Amino acid sequence: MAERLIVVGGDAAGMAAASQARRRRGRADLEIVAFERGHFTSYSACGIPYWVSGLVPERDQLIARDPATFRDRFDIDVRLRHEVVAVDLDRREVVARDLAGGGEVREGFDSLVYATGAVPVRPDWARGDVAGVFGMQTLDDATALLDWLEGEPRPRHAVVVGGGYIGVEMAEALIQRGLTVDLVEQAAQPMSTVDPDMAELVADAMREIGIGIRTGRTVTGLAERDGQIAAVVTDEGPIPADVVVLGLGVRPNTVLAEAAGLPLGPTGGIRCDRRMRVPGAPGVWAAGDCVETLHRVSGMPVHVPLGTHANKQGRVAGINIGGGYATFPGVIGTAVTKVCDLEVGRTGLRERDATAAGFEFVAVLAESTNRAGYYPGARPMTVKLIAERPSGRLLGAQIVGWSEAAKRIDTLAVALWSGMTVDEMTALDLGYAPPYAPVWDPVLIAARKAVDALAAADRR
Ligand SMILES: Cc1cc2nc3c(=O)[nH]c(=O)nc-3n(C[C@H](O)[C@H](O)[C@H](O)COP(=O)(O)OP(=O)(O)OC[C@H]3O[C@@H](n4cnc5c(N)ncnc54)[C@H](O)[C@@H]3O)c2cc1C
Repeated sequence: MAERLIVVGGDAAGMAAASQARRRRGRADLEIVAFERGHFTSYSACGIPYWVSGLVPERDQLIARDPATFRDRFDIDVRLRHEVVAVDLDRREVVARDLAGGGEVREGFDSLVYATGAVPVRPDWARGDVAGVFGMQTLDDATALLDWLEGEPRPRHAVVVGGGYIGVEMAEALIQRGLTVDLVEQAAQPMSTVDPDMAELVADAMREIGIGIRTGRTVTGLAERDGQIAAVVTDEGPIPADVVVLGLGVRPNTVLAEAAGLPLGPTGGIRCDRRMRVPGAPGVWAAGDCVETLHRVSGMPVHVPLGTHANKQGRVAGINIGGGYATFPGVIGTAVTKVCDLEVGRTGLRERDATAAGFEFVAVLAESTNRAGYYPGARPMTVKLIAERPSGRLLGAQIVGWSEAAKRIDTLAVALWSGMTVDEMTALDLGYAPPYAPVWDPVLIAARKAVDALAAADRR
């Protein structure tokens, strides 16, 4: 008789695991059932800001594989609109509620992949049901926002609460749709994924495209008129709004896991070993935004909810379930985004992370350009490096600049991943031609500056 794999959560991590398992084991050997409570499988939440802005015209362009494709090509039984409400590890079965048709089903499993993603952080003031207020996590959230934006009376002024990368991307999307936008952030700058000196460059670019940046403000409530949003109330007064987008961060979605007794780590994410097995729960695997992972530089557990990790972790789980061998080695915190044409990249530790991890370090900022200074289109690029003292090992890097900035972070990510020192980096054989870089690439200039800073620190 075929074994049965149950997948809870039908997006990046869950369906990567399911399809990898299927590639290694045929239907006669492994039956695969995936439960997804939403309307879609394998969709790109990452693409939502570009759909909302209009750059990507159709929602379906964000769907990589629909249930029919999984059924026909992978022989995976996807059950949409089915929410798993209980996982019973002793009886080895899940209970799923049919959200469309009503009723419940019970399905037994030999293996289980827990891939329920993350849930948005919602302070008390955001828990009510005010029309015109939207979280932005799923295609359904984005559909609801677009319906509101296209409704009457046409919303004209948006407030985005939260200046993380989702808030920043959504603010830009709303500007591109012709709304006026204020972004409210409790911290001194938006974009706290980079250090304040780099975030200030991002804030400048946001102001240039017309986003009103209200930093250092705490939202205390929402004011409504006739059940519809009228203003976001802050400790410094109300900001009028006829549409509000919440970007307050996420936490691992572990409700079922906790009830089932699966172990959680200090970040609140499910603990997994390197093969994505959940310790103490034979046959149970977890992957994606619901798990915590190892930060390879700080050595600490972290929760880094990114699609790039969800796909890799799901793949690792699926290979192992399929009888192969794969491990997920942890993360170094590489991420990229943009505000219009200004690109932002980061990898490794920020200054505050390096301090929290107990490192001695120097931090340098190098100003350069993305192309040879004389080449048309040359624009400023700022590279920040954080290097351990006295070893010189790269601990973190950030880049803000125009074209060719964001993906340059990958050079630095590889250097960091492989444990290079900034001294070794000064000799890296990077490509040069005037349309792509100055003769000294910004990465090399920053590495040289870091070497000088280390020497100066040693002399002190
Ligand atoms: C607007 C936005 C932009 C983003 N941009 C980027 C980016 O540029 N780069 C990047 O790397 N990442 C980005 N991300 C993050 C990325 O989308 C997530 O990290 C990724 O989707 C996580 O995949 P996952 O499978 O772990 O979780 P999810 O994608 O959240 O999928 C989990 C699925 O489980 C389902 N589910 C949950 N509970 C149950 C249950 N009990 N029963 C059945 N189904 C259940 C949910 O409906 C959901 O579909 C972005 C996210 C958003 C929202």
